[in-house]
Amino acid sequence: MNMTQQQYIEEAEKALLHTYNRYQVVLDRGEGVYLYDLDGKKYLDFASGIAVFALGYHYQDYDDALKAQIDKLIHTSNYYYNVPAVEAAKKLKAVSGMDRVFFTNSGAEAIEGAIKAARKYAFLKDGKTDHEIIAMEHSFHGRTMGALSVTGNPKYREAFEPGIGNIRFARMNDFDSVLSCVSDKTCAILLETVQGEGGVFPAQEAFLKSLRALCDERDILLILDEIQCGMGRTGAMFAWQKYGVKPDIMTCAKALGCGVPVGAFLMTEKVGANSLKAGDHGTTYGGNPLACAAVCKVLDLFEKNHIIEHVNEVSGYLEEKLDAIAAKYERVLARRGMGLMQGLVLDGPAAPVIASAMEDGLILINAGPNILRFVPPLVITAGEVDEMAKILDRCLAKEA
Ligand SMILES: *Cc1c(COP(=O)(O)O)cnc(C)c1O
Repeated sequence: MNMTQQQYIEEAEKALLHTYNRYQVVLDRGEGVYLYDLDGKKYLDFASGIAVFALGYHYQDYDDALKAQIDKLIHTSNYYYNVPAVEAAKKLKAVSGMDRVFFTNSGAEAIEGAIKAARKYAFLKDGKTDHEIIAMEHSFHGRTMGALSVTGNPKYREAFEPGIGNIRFARMNDFDSVLSCVSDKTCAILLETVQGEGGVFPAQEAFLKSLRALCDERDILLILDEIQCGMGRTGAMFAWQKYGVKPDIMTCAKALGCGVPVGAFLMTEKVGANSLKAGDHGTTYGGNPLACAAVCKVLDLFEKNHIIEHVNEVSGYLEEKLDAIAAKYERVLARRGMGLMQGLVLDGPAAPVIASAMEDGLILINAGPNILRFVPPLVITAGEVDEMAKILDRCLAKEA
């Protein structure tokens, strides 16, 4: 006998470690920008599996490429070369202008690699082992110990202290607070170009440019976390390209494989030649043929289907619609964001609005307790933005 949605939820709560308070729905399949639960209820998806599914669900070319790779070879280990990894690295270099790529299995792991590269770079310069990293308050970089240590939200860190140590937190968009953290020990400054989980906060251009100048002056490495804001979401392949501020190391994941777990950290030749060497870093799965076949196809489809141009066409419309909602409801305090990464700041918790939207067939997520986050598939159309805005309007009117 088939289990019902409710039975699966009950079974899940018996079998899975309870590290999430999940929405009470079992998602079953996707089509375009819509998801369906086990009961067949349809949802417009403005979360994309947390900014992952950039191309929408069941993009035929993407599915075909993965199936073909599955029939050929899924895994080899990094003791050998494989064609998809070479192709994916070349394509990623081309769109980023970075020089060296290391593929990981997740975003957190890309952050781990970036931290190790920065520490090794500094170690090779002075042989010391007390180097510091400056990270930002309200940042989010992942849940592994290194990534957690640079995550600027004490709530995530507290129970797991001590972290890796030698981390200082500065305030985002406050250059003086960064300056007050800098010392001879500083090896890297790490930030999200647009903060995601911390509340959809873009870096200001002057701030980013000042960081770049500071890093150049003192040979500190600038690490930009593009895991959420990268891959076209802000209207450039990587958000830093909009600012004209190139990092020394950048991290990427989420939409990189559009659903297949894959991340990467990339660096300039200067860092590549003076940091991690053979034996310094590794991963069993990282850069395996299946994951890299996904990366290749995603980057091909971005180009072939003009995904970034589309983001630039449709994101103004999303901003307009969200601004109209912000103007209509007093409890919506502000809109902020960049491209198809937007947030509405509420004067109270976002959770009831998200629940009500879900009821009405719209999937949204939050970014911090009071902020509604909008990270739809990048292929979203103006018509679908309208559909979202109508549902959201209904929910806010009801909740008022
Ligand atoms: C999601 C995210 C991470 C962590 O990625 P995982 O794949 O969940 O480990 C790191 N940085 C940013 C900015 C993110 O949004």
